[in-house]
Amino acid sequence: MDPVFEIKARLPIEELVASYCQLKKKGRGFVALCPFHNDTRPSMTVSPDKGIAYCFACNSGGDIFSFYQKIENVDFRQALIDLAERTGVKLETTIPVERTDKDEKERARACLVAAAAFYQKQFTACTKATEYLAQRGIEQAIIDTFQIGYAPDSFSDTYQHLLKEGFSRNEILLAGLGVQKDLAEGKIYDRFRNRIMFPILDQRGDIVGFGGRTIGEDDAKYINSSEGPLYNKSTVLYGLSYARDAIRESKKVILVEGYFDVIACHRVGVQNVVAASGTALTQQHVKILKRYADTVILSLDQDRAGQDASQRAFCLCKAEGMNVTTITLPHKDPDETACAEPVVLQKLLQDGGVSYFDSVLQELQALDLSSAQGKHEGMQRVLPLLQAMTSSVEREHEMQRAAMALGTTPVAFQEDLERFENAVQVPSSPPVQDSSVHEEQKSSPFSCVEITLGLFLLYPAQRAYLKEMIEPEEEFASALFTALQNAPETEQITVDILDLPEELRERAAILQMFCEHHGFTDWSESVAQREIRHNVQQANRELVRKKQRAISRQLLQAGKEGKTAETEQLMMQYQQVLKLAKMTSIS
Ligand SMILES: [Zn+2]
Repeated sequence: MDPVFEIKARLPIEELVASYCQLKKKGRGFVALCPFHNDTRPSMTVSPDKGIAYCFACNSGGDIFSFYQKIENVDFRQALIDLAERTGVKLETTIPVERTDKDEKERARACLVAAAAFYQKQFTACTKATEYLAQRGIEQAIIDTFQIGYAPDSFSDTYQHLLKEGFSRNEILLAGLGVQKDLAEGKIYDRFRNRIMFPILDQRGDIVGFGGRTIGEDDAKYINSSEGPLYNKSTVLYGLSYARDAIRESKKVILVEGYFDVIACHRVGVQNVVAASGTALTQQHVKILKRYADTVILSLDQDRAGQDASQRAFCLCKAEGMNVTTITLPHKDPDETACAEPVVLQKLLQDGGVSYFDSVLQELQALDLSSAQGKHEGMQRVLPLLQAMTSSVEREHEMQRAAMALGTTPVAFQEDLERFENAVQVPSSPPVQDSSVHEEQKSSPFSCVEITLGLFLLYPAQRAYLKEMIEPEEEFASALFTALQNAPETEQITVDILDLPEELRERAAILQMFCEHHGFTDWSESVAQREIRHNVQQANRELVRKKQRAISRQLLQAGKEGKTAETEQLMMQYQQVLKLAKMTSIS
């Protein structure tokens, strides 16, 4: 059997989507908060009958393969491999690969894997490195799990080793492992020297880069791989591949600051933990976390910088509608706490912290709230947080509590909040939101011609009007048009019974869902008749205009090139289109 067909049969769409989003039953299907855009109401419709999950707000989704490709950011080939493994379907050994820049990525990845193995070997051989980790209380089992290594204290040992392993100079540079100091000289130096090395894995567990902690005198305590085809620091979260299952299970994710903090949590047996590496937390990071969790537990450094980072994280997470709690640690960070009081750390992490907003209200009590100055400081602290809340119910509720905590009235508080919102733009609205979503929201995913055909799917009794429709030329519409003409006489048409090429079925199912989603199913037959006639006329107008434009373009071209025979031919075609327009009562 065709593996694609078999995988679809074994993995229902609702099961796949449920492993990323929380489903709510609705009618014959389900709805969920769309994981592909900043969704506040459940915009994703999941149809078990059609095997499709689709969001008509951002026009994303499709069958299990499309959904998986998009959410895991992989190509079709990888989706096929992953889903075959998940469903236990055997694949033939050779799957066609498009040989483009994928080779480049594959080579960069292989280079990183080779480097990781090299660093691990160096680590075992270097007493300074093993002693450093031992002194930080890190056991061998953790070192093995996280594949921690050591980059030797030399200018080009790693580079030389990788050359011997068969990687080219370019591949090593592309993998982010080499630095070319002087262009003229062209000499390559190792990017990582005398550092404890943490391989950074993507969510699927494939290595994409490294973070390195110096154990020498280097000014930069930590450095990361340079960004390249594999490593993008604003989307990678350190520890995610180890944390994914635990996060899904608990719906909670603990956010910490660094590599040693992630490891500290694992040391006390808590696994749902990640860190942004080499950058502050971004909106993209939060979007990724939202796929798995509904609550973010902040466990950042207990200093001023950590407080700022917490506030920022709160605003970003709130913008995505997530809950945010915070943990107060007895020491500087999870790493130090794990060393000094492991049992305390474990308990704190498992308890999941207190509401971040509550903790801020608590902090306000340290201010002199009897003075105007103290009140002002308190306002400055809570206003950005309130502004970041997307739910007005929650915001209203928390505003009243904040007003009470500051010893002021909700009315006065509301006034200040409004003034604040008009005065400053706090970066709670995502700075790097994909602008494409906005673009897409405006346009329908289907043309007028396609929607008209979609109506025939819902109301096959009106099929007589199909004869009044000009046959479309575009591939999908044309195939659907023919399939509808040949469809058996039934009361309801499903995509399954249509004679459509396999690759167009998904789109046809989405089209049917689109029509259902917009309430076109609720019409009586007489309303349907009126709507269909109207839409057929509209579709014909669109088709004629398209044909006219195409012929005009060709005419112009033929005229320019002096091709008289062709021009005559085109003129005749143009006359036919005009006749067609008249026949279908379009002027
Ligand atoms: Zn969406």
